[in-house]
This record gives sequence, structure tokens and C-alpha cells, in this order.
Amino acid sequence: MEKMFNDVYSEKDNVKDTNWDKVETLHNKKIESLDEYAEKLDRIIEQKEYNHWNSVEDQERNRKLIDNYDYKKRTADKVSLYTQRSILLENRECFDQDNLNRIWSEIGSNKLEIYNENKFAQDLANDSGKYKVVGLRDTRDGRICVKDTDNIKRLSHTATHETMHDLSFQKKESDSNIESDESGKSIIYNRERFISGIHVAETKNIEINGQIEAKKIEHANRYLNEGFTELYTIREMQKRGENPDFDSYSQEVGWAMQIEEAVGEEIVADAYFGGNLEELKDEFNRMSRIENAWEFINYHIDRYHTTNLVKHKNAVDVVLRELETDNAFVRVRRRV
Ligand SMILES: [Zn+2]
Repeated sequence: MEKMFNDVYSEKDNVKDTNWDKVETLHNKKIESLDEYAEKLDRIIEQKEYNHWNSVEDQERNRKLIDNYDYKKRTADKVSLYTQRSILLENRECFDQDNLNRIWSEIGSNKLEIYNENKFAQDLANDSGKYKVVGLRDTRDGRICVKDTDNIKRLSHTATHETMHDLSFQKKESDSNIESDESGKSIIYNRERFISGIHVAETKNIEINGQIEAKKIEHANRYLNEGFTELYTIREMQKRGENPDFDSYSQEVGWAMQIEEAVGEEIVADAYFGGNLEELKDEFNRMSRIENAWEFINYHIDRYHTTNLVKHKNAVDVVLRELETDNAFVRVRRRV
């Protein structure tokens, strides 16, 4: 009998030591929050379930093609949850309710999957040029896909990076305008905007008589968004005692750090996790002497990523260096 109490109260072996007042309060509190509990259950029941595979056979085939699948999947899911917890604890005030509700409804939804190398390359992303794609987050439905690797550190890094994208601010907008020309043909202008963190992707197309005639995709702040994603990722890994490799988006991480240093952590977190991009943009432009400095550096950051031409890197560096010098000047002046 005594042993049983030991199990329940773990450290105390004397029942008399139990603080019954405290137990009573806890008990009442539980009863009081039954409504809350029911609400929580409802939300769990309504939870989203991600389907990465068309059939159970496909899923099994994938699992068999991956050595130690269960261990890898557990590791990736674990770091993903650690990241979520840590970011929410630290930046809770930046998140809007819609994003929190979404994140909540997706816990345990099998959002993350490890894909065997062939499947990943065939269906999701080919390695092109100098880039080795190791993971992605689907902007449309939020699926996180990680390419199989026996390098567990890499796997953890990729899962953390993609989870960071998933935690960042998300918004989808779309609208259509219908017009008719003289001959009665209908022309539809479709516009879709995806915002993920500070990355804005806008797709525009023109539909004439049901046929898509022209399509255009425009990105803004795309690779600076990767810089912030990787910067937050590196910090998370360091917090967990893991040593991250600094091998992805290293230039963009450097720029992200410089910008964060200049405008402050809060403004960056508000934009990245809370969608307050305007404040970041305005603050950056206010601090710079160059007109539209934000648009200017982001154009060159994105161009540098795709062309690797040093003139684009120099253009960004000049603006950031000026910003630094000016801030140093402001700081000195204030002190005097
Ligand atoms: Zn990324």
C-alpha cells in the first residue's frame, strides 16, 4: 500500500506530509475548467491530418527505402516540436490569433515526412546547379518534406529550418476581376498572394475564355526571408546544444544579422512571426539615407542569390555599411 503512495507522490513516502489544501485547490481547478477541457477535445477531434502519400502501399514503400526510418522520423518530429515550443515561448506576443489557431490545429497532424532520396528528387525538388535541396515547406498547404539522409545533424537542421518557415507569419489572399471585351469575350485577371515570413510571392494570370493566356510570378524579400529563417534556426540548434553547420544561406544570414542589429530584434520578430512587414520596411528606410533602401537591398539580395555576381553583393554591403556608420554616429551624438 505504502509503495503505491510512493508511486503517486513520487518523492514523499509519508502521506501526512501531503499538502491537502493544495490538492483540493488543484482538484477544484480541474473541475472548473471542464468547459475548457471539452473545448480542447473538440479542437483535437477537428485536427487536420496531412496525407503525404496516395496510398498505404506508397507510404510503406517509402519507409522501407529509408534506413532507420522510425528513428529519423522521431528525431525530426522531436526537433520540430522543440522549435515550436521555444519560438512560441520567446515570441508569443508577435503571433496573431489566426496563426496560433493554425499551429495548434496542426500539432500531431503528421505534417512532417521524410522522403526517400529518389522520391524527393522526382516529385519535390531536383538538385539544380550548386544547390542541394534537402527540405521544403509547401507554401500552399504547409506540408514539410525532408529528404532522407544518414547525417542526423543535417536532418535535425533541415527539420528545424522548415519548422521555422512553418511558424513564421502566413497569409493567402486572392482576387479576380472579370471584364468583357467588345466581342463579348470574358477576360479574368487573377491575383494570388502568398506571404510566408517576410517573403511575398504574387502570382498573376489572365484567363481568356477559360484559357490561361499569361502568367507571371513576382517575389519580394525572398532570400532575406531565408536569411532570417536560417538565423533563427542556428540559434535554436545552439540552444539545444547542437552545433549547426553554417553551410546554407550563409551570406543571407550575415545580412539578416546586420539588419537585426540595426533595427532591433523586436521589429524583425514582429515582421517575421507577426506579419508586421511595414514597420520593418519603414524603420529600415528611415535609418538609411538612400530612398527605398529596403526595396533596393532586397532586389540585390535576390539577384545575388540567383546570379552570384559580386556587384549585387557590393550593392547590399554599401547600404548596410552606411546604415552602420550612421547608427554609430547617432549613438555617439546621443552620448555627447
Ligand atoms: Zn528555407
